[in-house]
Amino acid sequence: MSILIPQDLLPSDGRFGSGPAKVRPEALDYLSMRGDLMGTSHRQAPVRDLVRVVQQGLAELYRIPEGYEVVLGNGGSTLFWDMAVASLIERRSAHGVFGEFTRKFAKAAERAPHLESPVVTEAPAGQVAVPGPADVDTYAWAQSETSTGAVAPVSRVGDGLILIDATSSAGGMDAPIGDTDVYYFAPQKNFSSDGGLWLAFASPAAVERAEQIKASGRWLPEILDFSLAVKNSRQNQTLNTPALATLLLLEDQIGWMLDLGGIDAVAARCAASTSILYRWAEKRDFASPFVTSEAARSPIVATIDLDEHIDASQVIAALRENGIVDVDPYRALKRNQLRVGCYASVDPDDVEALTACLDYVIERL
Ligand SMILES: *Cc1c(COP(=O)(O)O)cnc(C)c1O
Repeated sequence: MSILIPQDLLPSDGRFGSGPAKVRPEALDYLSMRGDLMGTSHRQAPVRDLVRVVQQGLAELYRIPEGYEVVLGNGGSTLFWDMAVASLIERRSAHGVFGEFTRKFAKAAERAPHLESPVVTEAPAGQVAVPGPADVDTYAWAQSETSTGAVAPVSRVGDGLILIDATSSAGGMDAPIGDTDVYYFAPQKNFSSDGGLWLAFASPAAVERAEQIKASGRWLPEILDFSLAVKNSRQNQTLNTPALATLLLLEDQIGWMLDLGGIDAVAARCAASTSILYRWAEKRDFASPFVTSEAARSPIVATIDLDEHIDASQVIAALRENGIVDVDPYRALKRNQLRVGCYASVDPDDVEALTACLDYVIERL
């Protein structure tokens, strides 16, 4: 069965993925305009200038405190977990686990032969877990669990480094960077770029920890050595070759965010988009927001449960036939659900159009 959604109901852009996510067409134009940079050395001034602009732009966007540095390297947020295990956790870590991404970091720490078993505070999917003070040297959780659409507060707990996974929240939510030691993310979500990089705001305490661990003689692969990433980032470089297209798209997006009015303006835009979806779900008897606590409901990734009598996979397939893509729930969650990425680049008017398309499709299933 095929459902054809009328043209005038369709969003102007049908990309609603939770990562990777919509890239603004203007950013792609910018990329092709800077084509002369592609295929040139990342050790030379033109690419290092690009890295510097990205670092400065991010520092400005988040008004990072004096002494904090913008660090970057290859491998995305997933690599950063192994880097933290190798180079930032000294003896034992505590993790807030409330979805698949936070679980992956806790698992990485658990498997490390040089660390004691981590303290894990866990909450069921759709709720939030933040670790409490414990006999550990590092605390880790996510500001936004992209797998469930739940968001957690960011603040200091005990003494120890605070590592915040901001992969989907950075560029879509504000955060008190001074209450964190490493606030890390990747550019394929709110930053509307391509994947492959990790970026982080690092406190002096985090840099000092990495240097101490290196000096202790622990076996440390170069790609997982945070102190080496800091050293390279201070020179506006990465340890090995970065994807220049990713950096160019990121540069354009940061400029667009600053022009829009900075993080507050971008966060308001994302929240406007998600609240359209939450209000839509609350008004339908066949839909409801998955995250029941309003305070924990993500302003960037909306998860909407559908009643059993509506098969979400059929809705998703019908939308895809009409060019509306990637509203699938996180695969491991196995729920009858829609998950909509409302990142910075997504136009709230397109989210409004998406709700009209949902009504249209669901009526006709
Ligand atoms: C997407 C995501 C990741 C994984 O990012 P990669 O760059 O693909 O490794 C990790 N954590 C969160 C919270 C995410 O949303």
